[in-house]
Amino acid sequence: MTDLNARIGETRATLERIARDFSPAVFASSLAAEDMVVTDMILKAGLPIAIFTLETGRLHQETLAVLKQIKATYDYDIALYRPRPELVDEYVTRNGLNAFYDSVEMRRECCRIRKVEPLGRALAGHKAWVTGQRRAQSTTRAELAVQEDDAAHGMVKFNPLADWLEADVWDYIREGAVPYNALHDRGYPSIGCEPCTRAVQPGEDVRAGRWWWENPDSKECGLHLVDGKLVRIKSVAA
Ligand code: SF4
Repeated sequence: MTDLNARIGETRATLERIARDFSPAVFASSLAAEDMVVTDMILKAGLPIAIFTLETGRLHQETLAVLKQIKATYDYDIALYRPRPELVDEYVTRNGLNAFYDSVEMRRECCRIRKVEPLGRALAGHKAWVTGQRRAQSTTRAELAVQEDDAAHGMVKFNPLADWLEADVWDYIREGAVPYNALHDRGYPSIGCEPCTRAVQPGEDVRAGRWWWENPDSKECGLHLVDGKLVRIKSVAA
């Protein structure tokens, strides 16, 4: 618990620094376990960091239920950013509802319409954004720093849980009775859109259930990519 207490202290200090020095800042929550840790810290401390999620139109009912759990626990409404209906209609009409299974390009185009474009709107006008990403989550996140220069969005990106382990996340949640997505108890360590997420077997990589039909090196949705390519984002501070 000593290591966890130290991580909690550092994470709270990072969030306080973001609120103080990088206002206005926003937290992009995917409503997964890590994001609930950050949500709990922001809302319990009353920090002026707005929280939003990308409501892609393809989320699990269990994920949408987390919005109600947050409202009941913290009396807070997470802001919802949805894709532009005309872009979704055009994609579905031209390619089919589930064309993301056909190729990496089709999958990235769906993510671009349902996630990347709404993310751009959600981040506009802010100095910094916060994520719940952890270094240990996958090979694509091995270089993750607590603070990064996000050139694609022209702002600073913070990953305050970068050095947290999965056990830390669950110790924090259980200790603080923090609400969480019921899918985590059914073999889903990482949760995205319903058609693109499956449960994983014990011992599998925590992100093995995301876009499982693709190569592990291509498994990011574009939210943390620059110009459509996975890049190592420059760290500007520890
Ligand atoms: S995760 Fe799947 S359904 Fe969701 S936006 Fe990406 S390709 Fe589309």
